[in-house]
Amino acid sequence: MENKTTTFGKMRIGEEKPENPGPGVWLIPGFGNTGMVETEEGLVLVDMPVLPYLGRTMTELRKISQAPVNTVFLTHGHWDHACYLDHLFQEAENNGAAEPKIIGQRNILKRFKKYKMLAKYLDDINRDQFNVPEGELAFPLPERNPDIVFDQSISLTVGGIDFHAFHELGETDDALWVWVPEKKTVFSGDLVMYSFPNVGNPFKVQRYTLEWAQGLENIVAREPEILIPGHGPVIKGTQRIRDLLLNIAGAMRYLHDEVIRRLNQGQSYEEIVNGVKLPEHFFNDKFMVPRYGHPTFVVHGILRQYTGWYDGNPSNLFPPPRNEVAKEVISLATKEAMLDRIRELKGQGREAVALQLADMALATQLATEEEKELRLLKSGMLKNLGHNADSFIAKSIYYRGEEAEKKTAETL
Ligand SMILES: [Zn+2]
Repeated sequence: MENKTTTFGKMRIGEEKPENPGPGVWLIPGFGNTGMVETEEGLVLVDMPVLPYLGRTMTELRKISQAPVNTVFLTHGHWDHACYLDHLFQEAENNGAAEPKIIGQRNILKRFKKYKMLAKYLDDINRDQFNVPEGELAFPLPERNPDIVFDQSISLTVGGIDFHAFHELGETDDALWVWVPEKKTVFSGDLVMYSFPNVGNPFKVQRYTLEWAQGLENIVAREPEILIPGHGPVIKGTQRIRDLLLNIAGAMRYLHDEVIRRLNQGQSYEEIVNGVKLPEHFFNDKFMVPRYGHPTFVVHGILRQYTGWYDGNPSNLFPPPRNEVAKEVISLATKEAMLDRIRELKGQGREAVALQLADMALATQLATEEEKELRLLKSGMLKNLGHNADSFIAKSIYYRGEEAEKKTAETL
């Protein structure tokens, strides 16, 4: 296992050092954080990062303590928290120590089954979501299921210290957070991450908004003094934790209520996506920057939770293929006029519209030179959009598109 700064796709992580916010309480940073509590019966861990961060995490962990790993809580089944566990069993065997117990919420079992069923598809979309180059691992599969699963909550004592895990619907349907009263510490998993909450991820199934807010409020009710998030640095101080978590919960409740109000007013999906704006004061915190999740994604997520796919326009109930429509539209204009207009729109910074026109033109029969120019134009516009996007997910999607168009242009 290597111990160095590394990248997963275009995300660079690895300079951060472990934090020790309270006696025997640790945050060991990786792609996702590993939480740790030292007890007299060994270590209790919360989550394990993905390769290639794993090596670094284990090295840092063993610098802190040589004690055996007693228990691992998995805050949810995402690959950046729950994939790699075999090495802990190997380590226990090598040292003649007892095997660690792995604890998760029951839905993690369904999640791991789904991952195996959709492995190739999930590898494809993760490559886009994280901008992972071909040939690099994009979707690691889980090595083992938890030995102990629970539905709502579970409590256990390790080395005289009580651990309580509570199920919450948040980023996933198998989320849990861990409360250690003696240490006044919460391990939140991705209920708290170093970004605007990732509800409505463009690639993924339904995530939870109101329930997530409720989960954060439940954490606040315990009045923790230390919070170890799923990603990002330790959050310390009861007041700071309260302010941040209620701010995140407030943002999600605001977006939720706005969508509901507008649905009841009869607004369309499009009107709602473009109309809902989160007040600026919610962003006044480094944990709320839309560097990964994004308020507009959240609006999509809420709409998908409550509405079907029909957009209210009968023309779109059984629509013809988009390419067929594009051909009809393009036949009304000359190719030159079309290309000129796309360039003009690009010059005006109206890339979103220009891209729609470019796609229509690309759906028709073009001369090789025209197609090449269009694809390079499109590639340039996607690059600009990627540059200006705040969310890492949006950036990845644009940059992957930019590269794909450039590659196709080169083959022409
Ligand atoms: Zn995560």
